[in-house]
Amino acid sequence: MTDTMPPPPNVDPHALVEIAPGVHVIRDRRVPLVPNIGIVVGEEAALVVDTGMGPENGRKVLDVARRLAQGKRLILTLTHFHPEHGFGAQVFKGEAAILYNAAQRDEFAAKGQAYLGMFRTFGPGVAAALEGTELVMPDEVYDGASTTIDLGGRRVELSTYGLAHTRGDQVVSVPDAGVLFAGDLAEERIFPIFPWFPPDDADLDAANWATVLAALEARKPKIVVPGHGSPGGPEVLAAVRRYILDLKSRVAAEVKAGKTADAIVASLAPKIRAEHPDWDAPEWVDFAIRYFSATA
Ligand SMILES: [Zn+2]
Repeated sequence: MTDTMPPPPNVDPHALVEIAPGVHVIRDRRVPLVPNIGIVVGEEAALVVDTGMGPENGRKVLDVARRLAQGKRLILTLTHFHPEHGFGAQVFKGEAAILYNAAQRDEFAAKGQAYLGMFRTFGPGVAAALEGTELVMPDEVYDGASTTIDLGGRRVELSTYGLAHTRGDQVVSVPDAGVLFAGDLAEERIFPIFPWFPPDDADLDAANWATVLAALEARKPKIVVPGHGSPGGPEVLAAVRRYILDLKSRVAAEVKAGKTADAIVASLAPKIRAEHPDWDAPEWVDFAIRYFSATA
């Protein structure tokens, strides 16, 4: 029993790396349900990107951010509303200006409580991390596709692209450093996360997801920080885009041949897993196949 138990989803403040001058990442260490967390420091303010899951993780991230910011004001934003990315925001309330895009705020308001309940069933480690979680709303939202934040001597751009991995995915880019925080639009050596949970949550658009990835690749970022996995270059984005497009066409062919979703999962999922022997989280393959079966 214990040998199959995943490690607790704890942020490790010692996994801090400076990937570009003043651009820091608390690495996920490839621990399930721990995201890569960004802290971008300017001359006047520091931006935190994601909090980890639950107040204890959020507290650790806030402590690191305060240390790096050295008294400068703090701003918090999230790549998207999923619990491991944003359900530590409560400790930032009153300590940082919390800024989301409007779609993310709305999605969080609509689904936050249900996701809290769902994640609490994911085992004792996750339940412990979520202990005492309070869902807090942002202080500010922006409408439209993007906004720019001036951190003092450094500008950071927040962009959103409509329904993809979620309704309100947000990419954070630091143009002067060529860094792009992709959230769960990109996972590195991890099967792309398809949160396809119909009828409870069917907000997923893989075609747009692939389109967004192509647009982000065209920006030629030097460093891509995925939601989960190791930072790399634009190839991190390309790998996810190719996976999406390849799986979409293979599932479509099977659907056309009259196969059911169950039959496609049974025949295709083992092949897909075998083609990526070094990718983690193989359970997401089935979700992706079921998504493409339902939408073919
Ligand atoms: Zn996610």
